[in-house]
Amino acid sequence: MNERPRMALATPMAWGAATAAVLWLLTVDPAVRGDDVLGSTGSRIAVTVLLAVIGGGIARLVDRRGRDERDAPISRPIALAVVGATPPVALAVTALAVSGAPTRGSVVAVSGLAVGAVVAVVIRLTGEVDRVRDAIDRRGRRRAGALVENGSDVVLVVDVDGRIRYASPGLSRTLGHLPAEWDGRDVADLGADESDRDLIGSRLAAAGADAGVRSIEFEVTLGCHDGQRRHAEGVVVDRRNDGAIGGLVVTFRDITEQRDLERQLSHRAFHDELTGLANRALFLDRMDHALRLTRQGGDPVMVLFIDLDDFKEVNDQYGHGVGDETLRVIADRIRTATSSGDTAARLGGDEFAVLLEDSGGLDRALDLAERLLAGLRDPVRIGATEVVVLASIGIAVAPVGANTTSLLREADIAMYEAKRAGKGQIRIFDPAMRRVAARQLAYRGELSHAFGRDQLRVVYQPYVDLASGEVRGAEALVRWHHPEHGEIPPAEFIPIAVRSGLIVKIGRWVIETALDQAVGWRSDLDLFVSVNLTATELRQPDLIEHLVETVRTRRLPAGSLVLELTETDLMEGGDRALETVADLRRHGFGVALDDFGAGYCSISHLQAHPVDMIKIDRAFVAQLDRPGGDPTMVRAVLGLTETLEIRSAAEGIETPEQLRELRRLGCMVGQGHLLAGPLEAPVVARRFGRADDEVAPAYG
Ligand code: C2E
Ligand code: MG
Ligand code: MG
Repeated sequence: MNERPRMALATPMAWGAATAAVLWLLTVDPAVRGDDVLGSTGSRIAVTVLLAVIGGGIARLVDRRGRDERDAPISRPIALAVVGATPPVALAVTALAVSGAPTRGSVVAVSGLAVGAVVAVVIRLTGEVDRVRDAIDRRGRRRAGALVENGSDVVLVVDVDGRIRYASPGLSRTLGHLPAEWDGRDVADLGADESDRDLIGSRLAAAGADAGVRSIEFEVTLGCHDGQRRHAEGVVVDRRNDGAIGGLVVTFRDITEQRDLERQLSHRAFHDELTGLANRALFLDRMDHALRLTRQGGDPVMVLFIDLDDFKEVNDQYGHGVGDETLRVIADRIRTATSSGDTAARLGGDEFAVLLEDSGGLDRALDLAERLLAGLRDPVRIGATEVVVLASIGIAVAPVGANTTSLLREADIAMYEAKRAGKGQIRIFDPAMRRVAARQLAYRGELSHAFGRDQLRVVYQPYVDLASGEVRGAEALVRWHHPEHGEIPPAEFIPIAVRSGLIVKIGRWVIETALDQAVGWRSDLDLFVSVNLTATELRQPDLIEHLVETVRTRRLPAGSLVLELTETDLMEGGDRALETVADLRRHGFGVALDDFGAGYCSISHLQAHPVDMIKIDRAFVAQLDRPGGDPTMVRAVLGLTETLEIRSAAEGIETPEQLRELRRLGCMVGQGHLLAGPLEAPVVARRFGRADDEVAPAYG
């Protein structure tokens, strides 16, 4: 701190004496004396003494400037007050001493004192401001020093060539290096890798080269004493011109935790929380990146779109806890099946996707899809619960120039085709599917209006006793007559209805219509009517209630209604589906197992949960007269139905050879174009209605 030279008059006594002397001289001057009261010796002495005292105070005050302020805590404000009060006090004294108007002498004296007082205050305040500034400066330095010494930042003073001249204790706190050991070493050696060392070196060189640069900031990874790595934010400031420092100041702040947190947050933004797989955003991003990199002639990018079959049922039946756990296990299986270069993602709900960027072509995509499906056949075990969830997989191969939206859409369309083909299927996208998909989308909207516009109707395909040729019953099959596209096969619109949930409404309407039809049939024929049920309908909690009500209001026995379920639907419905079947039978309804042999069904299940009829899939019936065909399946099923005392039925009988063989093997009833195709309601009414006396034989 720079001490200002003290003024000579700064001694209190000198100031007091000087003031008194000037005043005395002023008042003895005959020119100013006159009949001035101050001319009286007594009053002159009194005023002089007073002013000497005040002057002394002022001098003392001015003299204090620059001394350590801790010495005079209270006197300072008092002194300032005294100085400030001098002019009014002087005036008051003059007024007391003088009865008349103030004389020139007293005015000069008082004005001189007032000016002196103001000058003293100004000088005093200037000193005060300097003092405060100095104190702050001192405190700042003390604080900065404390921060450097106690903080976790690594503060280093280095030469232009990078040699460390000073290292703060933060070096050991943050990196575990002893500052003393680093004295004189190259600061760049703190870098974790070669690239980090180069970076530190280059930043330092840049700061050293250009004196005009205020500071250079960079991010770098530093190596700890124990081999760990810390992420740091580095700042180089050139303080070579600062005498106290005389070098470059390098500061490293540890931002490892901050970066970790950022990484966690970004992981969360790009990953599915439940499964840890990539989420849709990341998947699209990776796809976009991969598509940009595809070259003409290179291996194309491929996407697998995986949608779990009937996953909703797992949630409904076992609760969301089991549902979530199942998703997690399936995600793990997908992750394990993919290679490191692939991206597996959960797009949402029960939809997953895999992006294949590596070479391997379509074969690898198909191989992966098959391995995934094979893996899914293994039941997922959660506590005591076992769940089997299959998936439908669509594969799309990106043509050059494809974009993310089109590729994902194509994989989705292929997946949808796989769904339509039944469960656990794989389909590869081809452009024809797009037309189908577009139509499906349109159908979805139109189907909901089909009811009100009388576009739906039911036809009936007879069941014929193969031994006697008599009709035993008829299967109700729904038809949709589209105003533009004509007759749309149920195989095409039933899956749409299932997906949109409309199947429940359609199914009930078919049941009611079929039973309305059956009401008119001759009772002596003892015909049954069968209706196809999907897994969705089987799951409806009020299914049985509705059926009971429907037959009751028509005064039909429950046994006149047979419900056809495919074995796949039954098996995938799990225990609950089997229980529903048992319940249906307890209520007297018949249950038929449709398309038997086409899906998978364990015989032991059949023994434990019997049905009333097994319908041999037409694919096996076709084997009976095909050259080299294999009739063993038909024989085996017929053997089984005989043992279990279940009614046997054959579907799709088209040739007399098939019919002959089935009769020979003892199949009880059959359906097929050879016997009778699906018949329109009026035809059925005519044939089996009460008005008719005779029933025309279904086949000759
Ligand atoms: P499904 O239950 O196996 O029905 C038998 C299908 O085979 C019917 O096809 C029938 O017309 C056809 N068919 C009959 N005889 C022959 C033959 O000799 N040769 C050949 N190749 N086919 C024959 P449709 O009516 O197209 O029905 C197809 C499937 O749609 C049905 O298979 C059934 O699963 C489903 N479906 C039909 N109507 C309904 C319904 O009202 N509700 C439900 N949930 N599904 C239905
Ligand atoms: Mg059927
Ligand atoms: Mg069938």
